[in-house]
Amino acid sequence: MTQSDYSLQQLTLALALGISSLIALLIPSSYFLLSYQGLQATLESQTELTANSVNSIIRSSQKMWRFEEVRLSEVLERMPHDETPQFLRIVSEDGEVVAKNNLIIPTPVAMHTLNIYDAGTVVGRIEASRSMRPLLQKTTMIAFCSILGGVIIFILFRRLPLNAIKKAFQTLAESEKKYRSLYQTMKEGMALHRVNLDENGAISSFTVIDANPSCAAMFDGNLDNIIGRDSFALFGDTFRNFFLERLEVFEHGGSLSFEMSLPDKDYFYNVQIFSPDHGLIATLFEDITESRKAEQQIQQMAYFDTLTKLPNRALFHDRINQALAQAKRDNTSMAVLFLDLDHFKNVNDTLGHSAGDQLLIEASHRLSSHIRSSDTLARMGGDEFVVVITHLGEQLNATYVAQKLIDSIQAPFQIKGNELYVSASIGIALFPDDGTNAETLIKHADMAMYFSKESGRNTYNFFSPVMNQKALMRMENEAGLRLALQRGEFFLEFQPIMSASNRTIVAAEALVRWNHPTRGRIPPIEFITLAEETGLILPLGEWVLRTTCKTMKAFNDAGLPPVRYCVNVSSKQIEQQNFPEVVRTVLCETGAKAEQLEIELTESCLVTGTDTNISDVFGMRDWGITIAIDDFGTGYSSLSYIKTLPIDHIKIDRAFVVDICTNVQDQAIVEAIITMSQRLGINNIAEGVETQDQLEFLHSQGCNEIQGYYFHRPLPVDAFESLLRSHGKTETI
Ligand code: C2E
Ligand code: CA
Ligand code: CA
Repeated sequence: MTQSDYSLQQLTLALALGISSLIALLIPSSYFLLSYQGLQATLESQTELTANSVNSIIRSSQKMWRFEEVRLSEVLERMPHDETPQFLRIVSEDGEVVAKNNLIIPTPVAMHTLNIYDAGTVVGRIEASRSMRPLLQKTTMIAFCSILGGVIIFILFRRLPLNAIKKAFQTLAESEKKYRSLYQTMKEGMALHRVNLDENGAISSFTVIDANPSCAAMFDGNLDNIIGRDSFALFGDTFRNFFLERLEVFEHGGSLSFEMSLPDKDYFYNVQIFSPDHGLIATLFEDITESRKAEQQIQQMAYFDTLTKLPNRALFHDRINQALAQAKRDNTSMAVLFLDLDHFKNVNDTLGHSAGDQLLIEASHRLSSHIRSSDTLARMGGDEFVVVITHLGEQLNATYVAQKLIDSIQAPFQIKGNELYVSASIGIALFPDDGTNAETLIKHADMAMYFSKESGRNTYNFFSPVMNQKALMRMENEAGLRLALQRGEFFLEFQPIMSASNRTIVAAEALVRWNHPTRGRIPPIEFITLAEETGLILPLGEWVLRTTCKTMKAFNDAGLPPVRYCVNVSSKQIEQQNFPEVVRTVLCETGAKAEQLEIELTESCLVTGTDTNISDVFGMRDWGITIAIDDFGTGYSSLSYIKTLPIDHIKIDRAFVVDICTNVQDQAIVEAIITMSQRLGINNIAEGVETQDQLEFLHSQGCNEIQGYYFHRPLPVDAFESLLRSHGKTETI
């Protein structure tokens, strides 16, 4: 039996005892009292009635009434009464019974007396008595019944309410258990605090007196460590400050809710405080970390670049507008620096996008470490960054920052096991000289950056109005390029490629030129990139291929030596799904021979193209087409593709040939390329050979073919035709 069961039993026993004894005592005693009062009242009225008759006899024989015993006795005998026997007697003042009725009633009796008067003087009294036996008998019976009833009620009470009360207690215990388990398992943290008062009765501190496991997990991890702790020490300063600030609100019976985060932990809580009882405070902590973090993430995504975590274009516009407003108010100047990494595309193309991403992240770290915290560095997209320098002071400061940024990028980057050398080109626009709004300043800084690229990269330039004109020219070029194809402004030149051993023409590279209606002849270096950017390279590349094939067919038909015709193909063309299809159609339509056609791919083509595209392009070798890797050695590529792809020729880039007679590094590189290609059974071609010394060195190393001004510059079609015709296969120098 539990403690509560025991006390419950005690309680019901006392209750049953109380109620049953009340019944057993109260009913008979009240019956007795009420009946006794009734009896007294009857006796009173009977004595009064009797007194009336007796008095009339006394009045009729004053002083002599004592001797009227017979009449008086008759009166007493005749007195009307109910069935209950009633004993009446008249007693004189000196105690002598003067008259009585002839009745004997059993004792005990109840009696009432009334004085009788003769001439205003008390001369005796009338006594009326009735037996109390019937009343006592009835009372005894009722008492007996009541006790019986009491006992029954006692028994019933012992049984019925015990169950009911037990049930009530059980329900109470169950509901408490339910709330307890809710308290224990709820994911919100809950703590109960005792309010501590100082000697003046003011609140001095709070002590944790209970907490649920969630609360423990949120703040300490161990329930035992929490209970008894100072609430403010446990829940931190935000809690203390907020709580103390609003203490009065709370003291008036209200409740508080606020949000707090723990400085050392990355959590956010919604806190509700209320007082369940006097001197007690309850706090409910709801963990809202996830929703706060989601909000932060959305903010982050809207205003920060996901890769570098730098402000994005949107946030940058916000910041630059604020900075401009400030500069206008304070009458200060500021600078916008537009920075672009040089040859970033090469990294992406040759090492893949994840390496490119890594480089951008590291570059952004370096850049941010070189600007003041009050300045803004943002990523505008791709490999473009912008910096806003406020409170510029003098122009020289912008120069200083630009140079620092360039220097910071120049140190080698370690990316995925590769040591990468990257540089940056920067354009600077100044407020208020070069523009007074964000758009103009960014546009002009961008233009100045473009100039840094054109003037050899790895440098910075301030914006100047001339740049505006040049930019306009670029736009004109773009428009002009679109029209050039329709107007037939492109033409080809062929640059012969000679055999290193017998110096005969073995091939010719087709090189495109643009005959601009007003600007005259434009070299490919000035429009190929633009054509690639605008997508015009596709129709232009197809035009080059078709024209080369037509020339080949015409020269073959004219009986000229059947040399290889090499066509440069841009990676954009390879990315095109149906490139081999285009080649096949051109070959069919022109009747050119596949065996005489060579496709020149750059290393980047091999990296950007999908595996399917590359294998489709190499599949063209089945038709007799040969494939050369152009500008070999300038990309960041791994050499693995040389091993896996069936390459016919490697073209050693002009950059390694220029100083080959004087630069030992270049010599080593060229020697290595030649040896490697020989081992792999790939023919090699040296580009940009201009001197006999270069030629001899290359020949001595075992170079197979030579292309360069030393033999021939790129030639117009008819000049190339005459050359082929006159020299044929026996050309010698
Ligand atoms: P590339 O494929 O490396 O072409 C060789 C370039 O080197 C040509 O410049 C040629 O004139 C130049 N060159 C040849 N021998 C010498 C030499 O001894 N000394 C010097 N200094 N230069 C020499 P070009 O014609 O200006 O072409 C430049 C680039 O334009 C080409 O480089 C090629 O990448 C691109 N290109 C030219 N035609 C086409 C084309 O039809 N399609 C595509 N996609 N690109 C083309
Ligand atoms: Ca080429
Ligand atoms: Ca080349």
